[in-house]
Amino acid sequence: MSKAQIGLIGLGTMGAALALNIADNGFDIAVWNRTTATTHKFHDTAGDLAARITPTDTLEALVQAIAKPRAIILMVPAGQAVDDQIDALRPLLDDDDLIIDAGNANFHDTNRRARDAGDLPFLGIGVSGGEEGARFGPSIMGGGKRDHWDRVAPILTAIAAKHDGTACATWMGEEGAGHFVKAVHNGIEYADMQMIAEVYGIMRDGLGMDNTAIGDTFATWDKGPLQSYLIEISGKVAAATDPKTGQPMLDVIVDAAGQKGTGRWTVIEAQHLAAPIPAIEAAVVARNLSSQKETRAAGEALFGAAPHHIPHDNMSLDTLEGALMAGKILCYAQGFGMIAKASDEFGWALPLPEIAKVWRAGCIIRSAMLDDMASALGDDADRNLMFAPKFTDLLKSNHDDLRRVVAQAALHGIATPALSSGLAYFDAMRTERGTANMIQGQRDFFGAHGFERIDGGSGHHGPWGD
Ligand code: NDP
Repeated sequence: MSKAQIGLIGLGTMGAALALNIADNGFDIAVWNRTTATTHKFHDTAGDLAARITPTDTLEALVQAIAKPRAIILMVPAGQAVDDQIDALRPLLDDDDLIIDAGNANFHDTNRRARDAGDLPFLGIGVSGGEEGARFGPSIMGGGKRDHWDRVAPILTAIAAKHDGTACATWMGEEGAGHFVKAVHNGIEYADMQMIAEVYGIMRDGLGMDNTAIGDTFATWDKGPLQSYLIEISGKVAAATDPKTGQPMLDVIVDAAGQKGTGRWTVIEAQHLAAPIPAIEAAVVARNLSSQKETRAAGEALFGAAPHHIPHDNMSLDTLEGALMAGKILCYAQGFGMIAKASDEFGWALPLPEIAKVWRAGCIIRSAMLDDMASALGDDADRNLMFAPKFTDLLKSNHDDLRRVVAQAALHGIATPALSSGLAYFDAMRTERGTANMIQGQRDFFGAHGFERIDGGSGHHGPWGD
């Protein structure tokens, strides 16, 4: 067999699927896994694709199996495993061989690795879409030197998801730019999921709908402007039945959600950047809170369960749909706003319209709305999505629905942290005269920080009285 065109390390969920995808697209690939038995099992079960896959038992054999200049994808857990793997690999490689970290690295780590690599080729690429995406077409966000990206772009664009024939694989910028964009993608994903979960809670607890009706509602919404992968799977989750008990699946699942940390990274980075992403922050907080099950139970025993029922006259399913649309737009406005801020801060020139395009297929947040977002950001990438005409119109016609839903949820004791934060962001962003004049006064009172006056000048002070 001739030498492979690319190598891959780490045949776990994502690595195995990605390797099959690469072989399926006609490329020869050599693979290595820390546990050798996994490598052989993978090869033995690869069917027709096995002919394009070279299994190797040592790193040396992997390197020897790849044509020069080599390119090797790492698909191992983010963190120390990536550093260890790079350290083990570099001495075996030539100076023009390329290492590609395709895991969910923190972009600060990717920045460091890119700098440590110096002139040695290194890329950090964000891959989204889960196992199915990796197997049949993920969304790929690349970072590193452009000419290194160009070397592997033919393979990466071939294996990526396609939207109307356009590959969802794009170079985002230098160093950790790809992993940064992937982190914001995950932050938006958290908020999108949380808003859907909140709407589910209103249907279940506020409107007393059963799981079948909730599933049907999501399925209907998936045919309209909310069409998206997350709405689609939410409908399927709501409709599923537990084979063990015959109960609806949702009724046998514990209400505490885990996280791997990428949403948290986005929120921490947003604080460093002073980028307002309250809906994403609320979604991360909601996951943290969800895990405090015992405390929540104690709270319900102490304060009593909230009077959940919402009179049907106060809320229709159309109102809920409109609220979710407005919430979704606001959450994306925040995510893209954060990317724009980072672009300035890190000197990256992140391509906002291209990012929207790359998310149109393959990734978890793919949705019909992203197509319009790509056009809107293409017209004026610096503008907050709220002010792009298409989305201004959508917000004008839907923000009252969001207000009604948040208000009714609050009145009936149903927590809607992400939808509420989205609404607060909207109201703050359309209020010229806010309340930070009071903050300025307070800061000057206790700390002599000085304040800026409307009629001019900064560094003014009280008097404030005693
Ligand atoms: P898995 O746990 O399924 O697989 C991990 C792989 O890494 C295995 O092949 C494992 O080998 C190998 N590995 C683990 N530790 C080490 C180490 N210290 N040195 C060398 N190899 C090691 O993980 P996933 O495939 O789910 O995830 C891989 C990467 O992709 C992660 O960064 C993850 O965050 C990211 N990712 C995952 C997604 C998902 O939906 N699962 C989506 C997008 C990105 P062994 O067989 O020996 O244990």
